[in-house]
Amino acid sequence: MAILEIRAPLDGVILPLEQVPDPVFSQKMVGDGLAIDPLSQVLTAPCPGTVTQLHHAGHAVTLTTSEGIEILMHIGLDTVALKGQGFDPRVTLGQQVALGDALIAFDADRLATSAKSLLTLLIVTNGELVASMSATSGRVHTGQEVCLTLTLAEVGAATEIRGKRVASAAIVIPNPTGLHARPAAVLASLAKRFKSRILLQRGDDEANAKSVTSIMGIEIALGDKVVVIAEGPDAQEVIDTIAPELAAGLGDEGSRPAPAPATIEPDPAQAPAPRPHSDDPNLLLGVAASPGLGVGRIYQLRRAEIAVPETGDEDPRKERRKLDDALDRAKNELEALQTELKAAADAKKAAIFAAHQELLEDPGLLDIAESALAKGKSAAYAWHRAYTIQAGRLARLKNLVMAGRAVDLRDVGRRVLGILTGQPVEEPRVPLGSILIAEDLAPSDTAKLNPKEVLGFATVGGGATSHVAILARALDIPAVAGIDPRALELPDGSDVILDGGKGHLRINPSPDEVSRITQAQARLATNKAADLAAAGEPATTTDGHRVEVVANIGGLADARKGMTMGAEGVGLLRSEFLYLERATAPTEDEQAAIYAEIAAALNGQPLIIRTLDVGGDKPLAYLPMPREENPMLGIRGVRIGLDRPEILRTQVRAILRAGKGHCLRMMFPMIATLDEIRSVKGLVEEERAKLPDTDPVQLGIMVEVPAAAVLARQFAREVDFFSIGTNDLTQYTLAMDRGHPKLGSKADALNPAILQLIAQTVAGAAAEGKWVGICGGMASDPQAVPILVGLGVKELSCSVPAIPIVKAAVRGRSFADCQALAQQALAQGTAAEVRALVPNDY
Ligand code: PEP
Ligand code: MG
Repeated sequence: MAILEIRAPLDGVILPLEQVPDPVFSQKMVGDGLAIDPLSQVLTAPCPGTVTQLHHAGHAVTLTTSEGIEILMHIGLDTVALKGQGFDPRVTLGQQVALGDALIAFDADRLATSAKSLLTLLIVTNGELVASMSATSGRVHTGQEVCLTLTLAEVGAATEIRGKRVASAAIVIPNPTGLHARPAAVLASLAKRFKSRILLQRGDDEANAKSVTSIMGIEIALGDKVVVIAEGPDAQEVIDTIAPELAAGLGDEGSRPAPAPATIEPDPAQAPAPRPHSDDPNLLLGVAASPGLGVGRIYQLRRAEIAVPETGDEDPRKERRKLDDALDRAKNELEALQTELKAAADAKKAAIFAAHQELLEDPGLLDIAESALAKGKSAAYAWHRAYTIQAGRLARLKNLVMAGRAVDLRDVGRRVLGILTGQPVEEPRVPLGSILIAEDLAPSDTAKLNPKEVLGFATVGGGATSHVAILARALDIPAVAGIDPRALELPDGSDVILDGGKGHLRINPSPDEVSRITQAQARLATNKAADLAAAGEPATTTDGHRVEVVANIGGLADARKGMTMGAEGVGLLRSEFLYLERATAPTEDEQAAIYAEIAAALNGQPLIIRTLDVGGDKPLAYLPMPREENPMLGIRGVRIGLDRPEILRTQVRAILRAGKGHCLRMMFPMIATLDEIRSVKGLVEEERAKLPDTDPVQLGIMVEVPAAAVLARQFAREVDFFSIGTNDLTQYTLAMDRGHPKLGSKADALNPAILQLIAQTVAGAAAEGKWVGICGGMASDPQAVPILVGLGVKELSCSVPAIPIVKAAVRGRSFADCQALAQQALAQGTAAEVRALVPNDY
C-alpha cells in the first residue's frame, strides 16, 4: 500500500483536531488531519503538489498531490473575515510546488489581535482516498518532521479496472446507529472480495466501499438512502451480493455474533425498522414538536428545484465575484429581516436570522465552494455543492441541536442560490384551513406562517429541538416532526387530523371522528376564552389556598406577553437565549440593561434569572468545549460557570447591578453537590463585595438532578428557594434522554418516582422554612397542577400560553382535595395510573 508523508508546513506545536475551538474542524466536517499552533510566519508546501485552490482572502490553500490527495491548509480560525488583511500568498492557482516552497506568508501579530485563533489546520479533504492516517504530536520545524503519514487506499489500481457499470436500487439503511465502525468493516471486507471498483453513494457524498474509514467518513445514518455502484468484470455480482446485505443491516444490532461476511445469513425480520411505525394504516407517526390539534386539509409544500448550470465563466475569478456579491446581498437581506423583527420585539425570530448570517461566514462552507470554483464550476453550482454537503454532514451528527441546524443551512443556502440564479426564494401560498406537509420546512417559511391559514404542519425531517419546532410553539401552531414519509404521498385537499401533542397524523378520518374533534376543539376554545378572561385573577383553590402562577420566558417579548396573560412574575428566565446565536458573549452592560428592562416590564413582580445553562447538547459557537462521551452528564449548566468562572462572574455582576430597585432572584442550574452551591455562593459574595450599591438578591437552585432532591434538607440550608426543573429531573431519574425520539413520550414527569422526589424536595425545604416552585414543563400540564399543589408546591412557572389554563386548574379544586389526590398519586406504580386519577378536561 502506498504511503504518503506530509511534513510540517510551519514551525510550531501539533495539536489534535479535536482540540480546535471550532466544531467545523474539531468534528472533522471538512476532513481529518491536524492543527498546528504556529511559531513561524510562512506557510510552506508540506509535500510536492499542485495548487488547486487558493482562497481569495489568502488564508487557505489546497495542494493536490500526484496521488490525487487534496491537502487543505487553513491559517487561523475565522480568518476569512479578515478579507486578505495580514496574508500574502506566494503562489498562484495551478502552480506546481516542491516540498518547502513558500505558499502564504502571514502577519502573526496582526492575526493574533484580530482573529479568533492562530491555530492552522492541515486537513485531507478527500479522505476516501486514504485508508488510514497517523499524526505526530509536539514541536515540529518547517519541512523537517513528518507530521502526518497517510496510507493510501487502493483506488488507483481499481480505476484501471474495466467492465460494465451497474447501480443498485436505492437502499434504506436500517442500522440504528448508521454505518458505524462494525458494519462498515463488514461491508469493506465483503466489498474486497470483488474485483470491481465499488462506491457507496448518498446524494452528493460517496465513499470507497472497500475502505472502512471512507465509509465512516460520510457518516451514513439510519434511514439514509444509499446506492451501490460497481464498475468492473463482476459488477452485477457485486450488486446482487452487497445490496441485500446492506438492506438487512450487515448483521448489525447484536442479532447474532458478528459473523465473517461470507457467513452472513441476513434475517430481514431482525432488521430494525428505520422509523416508528403504527399498525393502524390510518395513523402516521412522528415526533411531537408543538402541541395542539389541527383538523384540516392536506397541502403539500413542494419546492421547485432551482436549475443550476455546472460550468462557469472561463475565468474563475468572475464566478468568485458573483458568489461574493450574492453572499453580501443575502447578508443585507438577513440584516433587514432582523431589524424588522427586532422592531416587533421578536428577538427569538431575529436570533434565527442572525444565526443564518453567521452560517454564511462559515469557513468550511466557503472552502468547499472555493474548491469547486477552482475546478471551473459556476458560482451557483459551487455554492449549491458546498451547502448541500455541509448540511448533509450536519444532519448526520449525533448532537440533535447541531443536526437541526442542517435545515437552517439549507434555508440560507437556497436564499443565496436564489440570488445567484435570479430565482428568488418562493413564498408558500397556503390555502385557508391547511395542514402543511413538507420534506423539511425552512425556518424562514415557518416564521411567515399565519396560524389563521395553517392549522398545523408535519415535516419528514427535523426534530423536537429544531428551530422550526421552536417557532411553531411560539406561533402556537400544532406541529409534528420526523413524520412517516408516506405523508408526502397524501393528495392535496384530503382530510386529516394532526395531533402535535402526541406526534401523529390521522388520515382518512371518519366524518364522526372529525365532528368529535371539531366539537372538542370548540369546547376547548370556549374554556380557553373563559380562562383567559379570568387570567388576571389570582390562582386560589376553592378553600382559599393561594398558588403563585408565573411565567417561563426567554426574553423581553415573552415577559410582556406574560403580563397580558396573567403572569404574577417570572419563575424562570432562560438567560441562555441572550447568549445563543451570537458570535460573542453578551457583555456585562448588555446583560444588565436587558435584565433591568425585563424586570421593569414586570411592574415590581419577581423575576428569577437562571444563570447560563448551556453545554453538552446546547453548544455556543464562541465557547468551544471538548467533545464529550456523555454530554448530558458532562460540563453543563453551573458546571460551565465553575469551570470558567469569568463567564459566571460577568453574569452575576450584571444581575446584581440590574437588581437595584427591582425584585430580582438568582438561580443556578444543574446543581448536584453541596460543594457546587457553596462555591457559587462564594463567587456571588465576592462580586457583591465589589459592588457596594446593590439591593439584596435571593439565591436559589434548580432541583433537576436527583441528588439535589434526595439531599433537599441540606441544600435548603444553603439557599432561599428551590425551583424544580422537572424536564431534567425526569430525564436523569428515568435515565431517558429528553430529546430522544423513541423515549421522549415515555419520559413522563407524572411517573410516581418523580412525584416522590418532588415530595421529598418540598419536605426538605419546609423543614428549613424555604419555598419550592416548579419550572419544568410539568407546571404547564393541567393534569399535573392539582397534584403539584397537593404536594405543597408554592409557585408554578409555566409557558406563557399555559398561564390562564394553569390558573383555572388551581381554582378547580379545594386544597384538601389536592392533598388527598397527591397522596393517591404517590402510591401509584406508573405515570399512566397517575394520569388516570385526574380527568383531562383540557
Ligand atoms: C428543566 O430542566 O425542567 C428546566 C426548566 O430547564 P431546561 O428545560 O431549560 O433544561
Ligand atoms: Mg434543565
